[in-house]
Amino acid sequence: MNKRRILIVGGGTAGWLTAAYLAKALKLPERPHLEVTVLESPDISSVGVGEGTFPTIRSTLQFLGIDEARFIRETSATLKQGIRFVDWARTPTAGQQQFFHPFEAPFYAEDLNLVPYWLLQDEAGRLPFAEAMTLQVRVAEAHRAPKRAGEAPYAAPLNYAYHFDALKLAKLLAARALELGVRHVQGTVTDVALDATGAIAHLDTAQQGRFQAELYIDCTGFRAELIGKAVGTSFKSVRHQLFADRALACKVPLDGNAVMESSTIATAHEAGWLWEIGLNGARGIGCVYSSSHISDDRAADILRDYCGAGHEDLAMRSIPFTPGYREQQWVRNCVAVGLSAGFLEPLEATGLVLIEAAVGMIAEMLPHSGPIHAPARRFNELMTARFENIINFLKLHYCISQREEPFWRDNAVAATIPDRLAGLLEEWKLRPPGRFDFVLDTETFAFFNYQYILYGMGFATDLSAGRSDFPQSADADKLFAKIQRFADRAVADLPSHRALIQQINAGR
Ligand SMILES: Cc1cc2nc3c(=O)[nH]c(=O)nc-3n(C[C@H](O)[C@H](O)[C@H](O)COP(=O)(O)OP(=O)(O)OC[C@H]3O[C@@H](n4cnc5c(N)ncnc54)[C@H](O)[C@@H]3O)c2cc1C
Repeated sequence: MNKRRILIVGGGTAGWLTAAYLAKALKLPERPHLEVTVLESPDISSVGVGEGTFPTIRSTLQFLGIDEARFIRETSATLKQGIRFVDWARTPTAGQQQFFHPFEAPFYAEDLNLVPYWLLQDEAGRLPFAEAMTLQVRVAEAHRAPKRAGEAPYAAPLNYAYHFDALKLAKLLAARALELGVRHVQGTVTDVALDATGAIAHLDTAQQGRFQAELYIDCTGFRAELIGKAVGTSFKSVRHQLFADRALACKVPLDGNAVMESSTIATAHEAGWLWEIGLNGARGIGCVYSSSHISDDRAADILRDYCGAGHEDLAMRSIPFTPGYREQQWVRNCVAVGLSAGFLEPLEATGLVLIEAAVGMIAEMLPHSGPIHAPARRFNELMTARFENIINFLKLHYCISQREEPFWRDNAVAATIPDRLAGLLEEWKLRPPGRFDFVLDTETFAFFNYQYILYGMGFATDLSAGRSDFPQSADADKLFAKIQRFADRAVADLPSHRALIQQINAGR
């Protein structure tokens, strides 16, 4: 049997995650006719950001056979229970406003949907939406962990993901990929030759000569050396919908006694937002902004102000990007995974989720024989749907804000809101988001994620005309009270986040 060679170009998170996943899913050690190689430039560094994740990463790491405690130790990881949004709804005048987007879905009772009852409660007296619907907000705000030390790896009473050091994650994934039989070659691609059909015929490298494969996976990051420069697929910019196009990133040490947050903190500013990610020993902080609305100098001032006194000489890294993606991510024998396929912006941490989605599909759809590009059309349709759905979800955070600065007002202009989102927003004025609004196979965010953002930001769904359709308010009140009692118990029972991370790092 002829050897099937898969050549992954790029050794960032995308390259190594793809390599490890394919090696595991395709049972590489048991298939001598299959070869998976990572070709990585020794001279071009990876982007080195991407510290926040989504809960899907747990099943991915578990599937790869990576021990959770090892992962936490080797990547300076902490646990993430969601995102705390600060000052997104209105321009702050006195004090901060905030809302929480937890990973845990709203409390669900088979015969009683609590959302309409929350909507019908008196606005002044009710708890914020997420706090009313799940105990996770109280747990995270009390700096408790979502699990106890004795809990099984990757399992917990509350849904969670991680914050981690992106470079350390790539290193760990590389080690696992090599254990699973992946070959590693250091070389910089200098030329990509196409055959008469437009497929890649071979690659030339500066250090290691020529490479040939049946499938080339482009994980070269923003450079998109194969799918973009060589194959020439076009990039669809969505800057007319998502305005952020730059990030300034820095790291500051985390004081040994400071609170170890288990949520990403996303603080809105005049022309974008700031992320703060608590790692074990450091805080990753970044300023995301639109270069059409503020200057780089102004963004640097915003970041310095956020970091506070003592950080005047902060080392910042500037990362420009164009929000968008390629509709053709798989063309003939070349498929793009990671930043080469597209990137929207850091909000809601969707970079790694998209990599997981892409590699999961490649592993499952890869034909055992026949033309390698057979799944390309379906793959492209599904990835396009995923990107478009994420665009809708991200835009929601901006377009319903009442902030007054030009960046935010421009975001509310109807022409910048995708049609599908605009249509749903009209419907949601009279009913809450529901599960039939989305096709979950291609959706990263479910209807309840939309509920958390909409109602966290004060969006009004007016059910008053149908009040009599919801006669179980006494039962609903009992359930709301039960959620709070569960929260009291969870806060009392769960360990502090810092204590759990220290315990795992101490190997206990
Ligand atoms: C500001 C910012 C914040 C982000 N935050 C998050 C987040 O919180 N959560 C999240 O999930 N995602 C986030 N992302 C996305 C995340 O960083 C990426 O999805 C992830 O790091 C994957 O990157 P990559 O491997 O595609 O590219 P890179 O990390 O850039 O890796 C590219 C690789 O290709 C190699 N290479 C390049 N050219 C050649 C060549 N000619 N020959 C050989 N090799 C080559 C390089 O050496 C490198 O190894 C963020 C991105 C940005 C820009």
